[in-house]
Amino acid sequence: MEKSATINPLGPVNYLRLSITDRCNLRCFYCAPAEGEWEKLPAPEILRYEEMLRLARVAAAQGILKIRVTGGEPLVRKGVVEFIRNLHQVKGLKEVCLTTNGVRLKELAPALHAAGLRHLNLSLDTLKRERYRELTGGDHFLEVLAGLEQAASLGFHPIKINCVVLKDLNDGELLDFAYLARERPFQVRFIEFMPTVSRRKWQRHFLPMAEVRQRLAALGGGEPVCRTSCGGPARIFRFPGFKGELGFISAISEHQCPECNRLRLTAAGSLRPCLFGQAELDLKGPLRQGASDAALGRLFREAVHLKAWKPKFSDPETLHPCRQMVSIGG
Ligand code: SAM
Repeated sequence: MEKSATINPLGPVNYLRLSITDRCNLRCFYCAPAEGEWEKLPAPEILRYEEMLRLARVAAAQGILKIRVTGGEPLVRKGVVEFIRNLHQVKGLKEVCLTTNGVRLKELAPALHAAGLRHLNLSLDTLKRERYRELTGGDHFLEVLAGLEQAASLGFHPIKINCVVLKDLNDGELLDFAYLARERPFQVRFIEFMPTVSRRKWQRHFLPMAEVRQRLAALGGGEPVCRTSCGGPARIFRFPGFKGELGFISAISEHQCPECNRLRLTAAGSLRPCLFGQAELDLKGPLRQGASDAALGRLFREAVHLKAWKPKFSDPETLHPCRQMVSIGG
């Protein structure tokens, strides 16, 4: 018989990023593959909501405390609100969060709020409409802003705004993003560009976080904010006079493997120990073949063991986390 769960079978790993779809309503050049399109999973290959809920229960029983719903774009999947409501009922979970590009946020925010959701990450790389169109391939800037306002007025908290810093594309807006956190109670997080696209594009647009911070030196020194046990890799700071905070995520230049507390489950039901590795454990097969919760739990533990593998950050261009970030969920 399977031994009953020890206090934390997954050790320090307590955070699962759950991608519920590989579809997206934007075509950000750094997220989708170089050719701008990717092979979509046939619908039967995508986990059904009840399958995801079962895996969420198994994960929580193993020690996962936080689940972030991601994609593709999670808000394009039908039934997402009901799914998020059900996710809040999973015993043992302390936090359910959503990462979205915000295109459908205005429309769905009230229902998401009623479903219990409070933690929201919004991906937004520019505060200029024309540049938004260039970066994402869609003219949805005003809808995204309206979604952000809607979410703020409904009381979503925290609202984190994720900005991937792209040299010569949006790095002239660093201070504007910082001022957004000064004026509004948002946590604005600057994220290093990860090499998911062609080597040439990555080299061309990568800006190390140390330089981002240097360029924000005019703001003065910020006060570091303590991270919570389920927190991600962001270094968070509070600056005098700011309503919000600034966060810095240097996934490449100061990789944080020893602190990594996360696993990723793709929409196809593959469990990934590391964003940058090739390793994946298939959960969908065993799940559909009638595996017990105990057997599925073992796969989560196996994935944690596989986290011992470390990517070669000394040579970032060999990393290629996943040519298709959009299929993994960031
Ligand atoms: N569609 C949702 C969204 O936009 O938030 C969820 C999926 S998206 C893949 C999740 C996050 O991954 C986004 O914040 C996006 O900016 C980030 N991301 C994608 N490709 C990236 C890259 N090459 N480097 C850094 N961040 C990336």
